[in-house]
Amino acid sequence: MASERLKCLLDAIAKFDAWEEAQQKQAELQPTDSQEEISQKVISLDCPKCGSGQTIRSGKGKPRKDGTRLQRILCKDCGRTSLIG
Ligand SMILES: [Zn+2]
Repeated sequence: MASERLKCLLDAIAKFDAWEEAQQKQAELQPTDSQEEISQKVISLDCPKCGSGQTIRSGKGKPRKDGTRLQRILCKDCGRTSLIG
């Protein structure tokens, strides 16, 4: 039955979502960042696009040549993401 396969697929997706969420939580609880990166966490997270302080962290950008990664923030006011660091 097709519905059976669909159920299976949805099950797998739900499991993956839960896994991904767990990974993210673990990453937050056990930061593997270098000392240098930890010191960067005191940087201002104001939105550079509109200047709003209503931003939330939404992961990190791609690693640069020196291995550091920029903080990606999502602005609640203008809805745009920016890389800070
Ligand atoms: Zn903004």
